[in-house]
Amino acid sequence: MTTKTNAEGIDLDIKDAMEGYERFRQRFGRDKAFYSRLAQAKQKPKLLWIGCCDSRVVPSQITSADPGELFEIRNIANCVPPCGADEDSVGAAIEYALGHLGIDDIVVCGHTGCGGIQALLEPIPPGAEAHLGRWVDYTRPAHDLIRAAGIEPEDMLMATVAAHIQFQLDNLMTYDIVRKGVEEGRVGIHGWLYEMETGEVIVYNRASGEWRALVEQPAG
Ligand SMILES: [Zn+2]
Repeated sequence: MTTKTNAEGIDLDIKDAMEGYERFRQRFGRDKAFYSRLAQAKQKPKLLWIGCCDSRVVPSQITSADPGELFEIRNIANCVPPCGADEDSVGAAIEYALGHLGIDDIVVCGHTGCGGIQALLEPIPPGAEAHLGRWVDYTRPAHDLIRAAGIEPEDMLMATVAAHIQFQLDNLMTYDIVRKGVEEGRVGIHGWLYEMETGEVIVYNRASGEWRALVEQPAG
């Protein structure tokens, strides 16, 4: 595999990032007071966002958040491994967000066309991509549920994406700090599903078990 380079031998993808950085430096210069306040005070984000790595699903864009407002965990298929699973990265961020930053709302956001969910529909050959194989196994409960429900093949991915979000809300509740916060009414947990095709977010209502639009009127 070769990378595309320009006449000076600079990788074009890195060149794009370097030019983007230049534009950021100019904006930083214009907003110096804002960035200086951010740097001098302790961070005080409003939300813990648990989302997918997918490059098309950008948390700060979807929520119009400024720097300092979102504390983010992004991983393949927005997974929350249950407490006690052999995986500390997500649990550490949850404990830090709630215990040290005082965050009291958690959004788990999945999305349509998620390759991390799709992965289990097309089994990974044994022995290949061991890390990916182990990770996407966290999506298995949703796959098992939807397969057993006899959903039409064309609706399976969307149904699995939605069910997976519901399972991750259950998994959040396996962490003491989340469960206590929710039981005492201090912490809210929210399941969102971002529809890439329309830009709409639908939300899961844990009490009724239903999904509905986050905002009723269409965009634009
Ligand atoms: Zn995804």
